[in-house]
Amino acid sequence: MLTFQPGALRAVTHLIARRMGSDEAEAAEVADHLVRANLAGHDSHGVGMLPTYVRLLSDGLLVPNQQAETVLDAGALLVVDAKRGYGQRMAADAVRRAIGKAKEHGACVLALRNSAHVGRIGTYAELATSQGCAFTSFVNVADHHDVQATYGAAEPRLGTNPFTVGVPGPDGKPMLLDMATTTIAAGKARVAYNKGIPVPDDSLIDPDGAPTNDPTGFIRDRLGALKSFGLHKGSGLAVMCEIMATAVAGGQAAHEHAKGGVLNSMLAIIIDLAKIGDPVAIAASVGATRAHVKSAKPAPGVAEVLTPGEPERLSAARRAAQGIEVDETSWGDIRAAALQLGITEAEFDQASRANA
Ligand code: NAD
Repeated sequence: MLTFQPGALRAVTHLIARRMGSDEAEAAEVADHLVRANLAGHDSHGVGMLPTYVRLLSDGLLVPNQQAETVLDAGALLVVDAKRGYGQRMAADAVRRAIGKAKEHGACVLALRNSAHVGRIGTYAELATSQGCAFTSFVNVADHHDVQATYGAAEPRLGTNPFTVGVPGPDGKPMLLDMATTTIAAGKARVAYNKGIPVPDDSLIDPDGAPTNDPTGFIRDRLGALKSFGLHKGSGLAVMCEIMATAVAGGQAAHEHAKGGVLNSMLAIIIDLAKIGDPVAIAASVGATRAHVKSAKPAPGVAEVLTPGEPERLSAARRAAQGIEVDETSWGDIRAAALQLGITEAEFDQASRANA
């Protein structure tokens, strides 16, 4: 494993995003997003995505500096078509606009269509909670081969369709549930494959529908599928993420023709807590629930009962102090993608030593 300071990973990402054609603001947004995902412990959505983004760019399936189209801006409704724009920027811009509308109307329903991969959805929930808003989103993944086997299925029909809810809490610590509706996110199978380690039990099936812990076939040969979490209930949530992001929000669906990219669409509901109630009382109530849940005796083998968002905060504190580990295969892939863009070895090495 290699260990990097967050500033080094930010500098490498910024260099790659700029060379991909992004302007300064977009490159900074992408770099901040990816490194925050690594800090949160989600290496599946951190700098390890860069080789995929470079591949999407060269296939014409990701558009730097895209101007999103406002399809509808009517009262509390905002519909934006991102037209394959760089996801971290498209989604952050749309959520920022939706927060502004929620401040005006009390709430905003945002439909974001057809963005290139938007990354870790929790980032957008954090954007909203930092502005005193509650955030709920249903996201789908399309334009990609199917990866999620829903309940009772032996083969995949959906993407990993994440579901996210964030509500501001005391001390600036939101309650934040942010999860793929598969037992593990697809990127976690990629990270396991790159590290040469098995995936957790009950997360993957082989092409015959039998359980497997070996991610090789899934990552290298696109065989098998990730299982929905939580039996029929998680599977049902995955289906509803698909419906909300496509039938309701108008994004591309998993059943439509895929060009081999990654398109995310999102139906998000943003509520200004100052309009619906007293933000201080709401945060206190979140804190009381957190304390109540955490007061339970831990199960055997568990050190501490945690609540949604806590593992990410603990990881961020640890990694900010100790650095972020990246496996050598992932780092080699990032380096190769950078060189493919014409970045020199000297430029890449200089960025990877930055520690700002
Ligand atoms: P995960 O399983 O690590 O965590 C899911 C949720 O459970 C988090 O809210 C976390 O705080 C909580 N949690 C984890 N351990 C806990 C514990 N011990 N006690 C209490 N709560 C706990 O996350 P995941 O499902 O692997 O998803 C990882 C990331 O992938 C997310 O940020 C998600 O947005 C992202 N994602 C993105 C896409 C996309 O297409 N853009 C698709 C799927 C997932």
